Amino acid sequence: MTTDAATAGRGRAEEVIRTRILDAILERRLPPGEKLTEERLAQLFGVSRTIVRQALARLAQDGIVEQHANRGTFVAAPTREGARHVLEARCIVEPEIAALVAGRCACQAGILRAHLAREDRARAAGDRATLVRLTGEFHVRLAELAGNTVFQRLLTELQALSSLAILLYARGGHESCPPEDHANIVAAIEQGDAGEAARLMHAHLGHVAADLDLAEPPDRPTDLADALGIGTTAEGEGTGARRGAASRRTDADSSRAMPTGASRREIAPGR
Ligand SMILES: [Zn+2]
Repeated sequence: MTTDAATAGRGRAEEVIRTRILDAILERRLPPGEKLTEERLAQLFGVSRTIVRQALARLAQDGIVEQHANRGTFVAAPTREGARHVLEARCIVEPEIAALVAGRCACQAGILRAHLAREDRARAAGDRATLVRLTGEFHVRLAELAGNTVFQRLLTELQALSSLAILLYARGGHESCPPEDHANIVAAIEQGDAGEAARLMHAHLGHVAADLDLAEPPDRPTDLADALGIGTTAEGEGTGARRGAASRRTDADSSRAMPTGASRREIAPGR
């Protein structure tokens, strides 16, 4: 094998690993905080640890995984602030993408209609894993149809980070996008109405955000003494009450932060 061919082969192997990890996150089979061991991945993909390390380094650059010295690599567990930033970015970029697609030829709508049909089939079959992947892919597909590879890459990353945020902060079950939203966006694109497509996409992302509990918990103790309910002032009165309040607050925060599915055990290693 020539040096060029060997480099190309390594590049392809890296891309396969990266894509498989991204798909598993999009289907929510890999939860936030899950440990990704180089040795195990090398075994599973039949490649060297160097290739795995390079694939993981790229995912780390994109914020999809987090690497900690001496502890290893973990699927990212975005903070509430990080999740808000992801949604803010999506709210700026995605309406523009929808408008761009609406402004291009109407033939794009056929591809989107076919995608919606796949979403409907998965919904009817009760195949949740496929449905969450497809509803996420809808957004990436739009970026592809906008004909801008930078948008496409950006959306792939934003979509993976959104999936992780949904697992951590969804108020209810980890639902996918509301079904009628995508259909309405496609209808606006079919009519070539760029303004309406952008408006509907913005509203859709509002629905996604509304389903997440992204407000910072109020009055989180910033000081260890406060967190332990040990007053640093001379007055001892009220310490017990404060301790009780702090403890209740912590319990409520934990249950909100990890509603279902993503258990403490799964999340703990990444924290
Ligand atoms: Zn959506």
